[in-house]
Amino acid sequence: MIRFFNTLSGKLEPFKPIVEGKVKLYTCGPTVYDFAHIGNFRAYIFEDLLKRFLIFRGYKVTHVMNITDVDDKTIKGANAEKVKLQEFTKKYTDAFFEDIQKLYILKADYYPRATDHIPDMIKIIKGLLEKGYAYKKDGSVYFNISKFQNYGRLSKIDLKELRPGKRIESDEYEKESANDFALWKDKKEGEPFWETEVGPGRPGWHIECSAMSSKYLGQTFDIHCGGVDNIFPHHENEIAQSEAFSGRRFVNYWLHCRHLIVDGEKMSKSKGNFYTLRDLLAKDVDPYALRFLLLSTHYRKMLNFTFEALEQASSSLKRVSDFLYELKNRQFEEGENKDISRLVEGANKEFIAGLDDDLNISVTIRALFEMIRKANILISRGKVYRKDAEKLIASLHSFDDVLAVIPGKEEVALPSKLKKKIEEREKARADKNYDLADQIRRELLKQGILLEDTKDGVRWKILKGKP
Ligand code: AMP
Ligand code: ZN
Repeated sequence: MIRFFNTLSGKLEPFKPIVEGKVKLYTCGPTVYDFAHIGNFRAYIFEDLLKRFLIFRGYKVTHVMNITDVDDKTIKGANAEKVKLQEFTKKYTDAFFEDIQKLYILKADYYPRATDHIPDMIKIIKGLLEKGYAYKKDGSVYFNISKFQNYGRLSKIDLKELRPGKRIESDEYEKESANDFALWKDKKEGEPFWETEVGPGRPGWHIECSAMSSKYLGQTFDIHCGGVDNIFPHHENEIAQSEAFSGRRFVNYWLHCRHLIVDGEKMSKSKGNFYTLRDLLAKDVDPYALRFLLLSTHYRKMLNFTFEALEQASSSLKRVSDFLYELKNRQFEEGENKDISRLVEGANKEFIAGLDDDLNISVTIRALFEMIRKANILISRGKVYRKDAEKLIASLHSFDDVLAVIPGKEEVALPSKLKKKIEEREKARADKNYDLADQIRRELLKQGILLEDTKDGVRWKILKGKP
């Protein structure tokens, strides 16, 4: 049984989708006013782990991630650079898609952009005006929070603090300013605007997600995610708008990840501890190691990013890829050892049990490394046979469908003819016959196989196609 911690109830709850076997998932996407930073990627990778796990457990997942391409921050950024909003946001939207691919994040089924969905937002705003949940003031439209009975349930806000009738303009604000918030903002000098039935202007940030989620997933859907900073006001306001409009429950499970901090501090440009993915890749950081580091702390725990932790993540992964390499390239004798089947079954059970328990990743990772440790002992004792190696490879591949962290997973074993060539070269090197060794190396290179001499011995890489 899968359990998730639901921010709404503040409890672990058994997961039961609305339609058996199917999950509708909405994750708040990037506000495209800058390159995404590693904190953002903690959120996106947590969501990717959740999604990959649900797929692994047999669910058909429909995933929507919005692109916030009009809001206070994007408008400010475009104005500062004196370029059109669309031109400004396109640069960061393109960068976002490049980045997620580098981190092996599965693509969503839909990436709706806010600027393509203004009519959907207007439909909800009009409905809220008709139902008396919203009112117009000076050309803008506000949501009256005193009219929505459940306001504050998600963020556990103290209702005594609410000051109905007071209004807040900006998209982001603290709980202390839980006032009537803007659904639609009046046309202003220097801001893009749309001519609509509720007047000229542009949407508030929160209405964007209410409109785009219901358009692609329906008025009630299964899971909505984001980082903890999204709980208030963003998700609180999404619930208010969506439920007031539809009269139905908006989302069944709210999952939020805690923040990533760097060297024990909040990331900020002024402190010089602010890293985009691009900053790290420019320092030759391995994307797999970064992904592993970001997902290996439970999503509801604070994650402290350090370069030492990144090094550790990298060497842990090397153990996995070395193990896989060994399994694929060692000549195992024919046969089978029942201990390996038991080992694989046990690891698989633990792997799933960990993730079933609110994505308890430490249990899952322990299962993976224990399997490797024990199998390595059996290999060194000559107790692993060809069928066992195949089973271990299959189980690593299936674990990696969820984790997506093993470098070189797709590499296939070399045909024995080429393996013999490599052995011949090894022998030539041992005999100090470097001319012959080089000749074989060049021969293999012509066939698209690059040899690398490492401290653990010779390694090969396929450069093109299959050997
Ligand atoms: P934004 O582009 O600011 O709208 O944020 C995109 C996603 O990243 C949201 O789900 C945020 O909650 C999340 N996020 C922002 N900063 C952090 C952080 N330091 N750690 C984890 N998640 C974050
Ligand atoms: Zn959102």
